[in-house]
Amino acid sequence: MIYKKKDFFIEKVKASKLAKIYSTPLYCYSYQKLSENINYFKKMFKSIDPLICFSVKSNPNKILLSEIRKLGLGADVVSIGELMRSLKAGIKPNKIVFSGVGKTSKEISYAIQKKILLINAESKSEVLEIEKLAKAKKRKVDIGLRLNPNTDAKTLSQISTGKKENKFGVSEKTFLNLIDYIKKSNFINLKCLSVHIGSQILNNKPYEKMLKVLEKIIDKSEYNFEYIDLGGGMGIDYENKNKNLDLKKYSFHINNFLKRYKTKIIFEPGRSIVGNTGLLISQIIYIKEGDNKNFIILDAAMNDFMRPALYNAKHRIIPLIKTNTRSKKAYEFVGPICESTDKFLTKKKFQKLKEKDFIAICDVGAYGMALSSNYNLRPKATELLIKNSKIQIIYKRQSLKDLI
Ligand SMILES: *Cc1c(COP(=O)(O)O)cnc(C)c1O
Repeated sequence: MIYKKKDFFIEKVKASKLAKIYSTPLYCYSYQKLSENINYFKKMFKSIDPLICFSVKSNPNKILLSEIRKLGLGADVVSIGELMRSLKAGIKPNKIVFSGVGKTSKEISYAIQKKILLINAESKSEVLEIEKLAKAKKRKVDIGLRLNPNTDAKTLSQISTGKKENKFGVSEKTFLNLIDYIKKSNFINLKCLSVHIGSQILNNKPYEKMLKVLEKIIDKSEYNFEYIDLGGGMGIDYENKNKNLDLKKYSFHINNFLKRYKTKIIFEPGRSIVGNTGLLISQIIYIKEGDNKNFIILDAAMNDFMRPALYNAKHRIIPLIKTNTRSKKAYEFVGPICESTDKFLTKKKFQKLKEKDFIAICDVGAYGMALSSNYNLRPKATELLIKNSKIQIIYKRQSLKDLI
């Protein structure tokens, strides 16, 4: 994804051409970026030889999921829908883990029936429910237990999950009690300790603290876990300022951890695999002049891409055709929805824009289309996968007919 002279290209395809052919708003993903991200992740953790389970909730597109499977990853799912889709994408059950605080008996039954690698339980009630359903099926089911390590991930509070006030996982005390309970059960087998402290983590410190907490509890429990599932959360460089999580350093700390414990590591990355693979192309409907700033009213809105409205997340915006101009007034990029939070970014000294111009919102591959909705009865956008000069429609825009 790069400018060639004035035109922005996704692999070998001119982005403005895609906008004209497929119309906007339009999600475009780069296959090359996807495979680079996966290979980089594998390379950084090569010495650990982990099982890498892609967090399906970050981008559940069917075709992307099957490409991710072909590139060697398993799946981390949080609902029966994601589990079914992962199986349909050809991901083997022995590479699937199931997380989430509120799995229903229907979801657990299905997971047992499909013999997935692990159901990661998050409460005593869930452990009892899994045991009951396993007993009914006369099976012994492998489970993980998610610990709440009470570790601050130092990320946005809305995407922090590892502190004791968060709903996720069980406390150390409950964890130790549940180990004793599960040891005596004929129907559940505790194989994994799992954690996931939050998302968009850019510093290794929280992970180091988390590993320390794990050492302490494993020593206390004197239990041999076949797997330690460290979750995901690896942050990406949204600001394009070379602010990345140092995966090498994380790998070094995990290697130290593994000197003490013989176990297989599982990761559940989402954002770091797909985040920077996607762009959301949008056309300017109107430009409304204000006193201090001009509103750039886009045809993409918070229903298409919700992170700015939901988390106040900042995503770079770029023009698809560059000009050497600078706007005097600041631009506020907004959508057409009747909500004041339906805005993407305010930017000073952007290049001068005109009505009908195309722009792209960057790094929308994770939690972009995944969080989209039909709010205001707006159809969901088309998604394209670009591989060299090949263009594949991987999701077709919903038709108004379907919606109304
Ligand atoms: C959301 C989630 C992930 C993925 O997080 P990223 O920040 O996208 O890597 C992994 N594991 C669990 C349990 C999650 O809820």
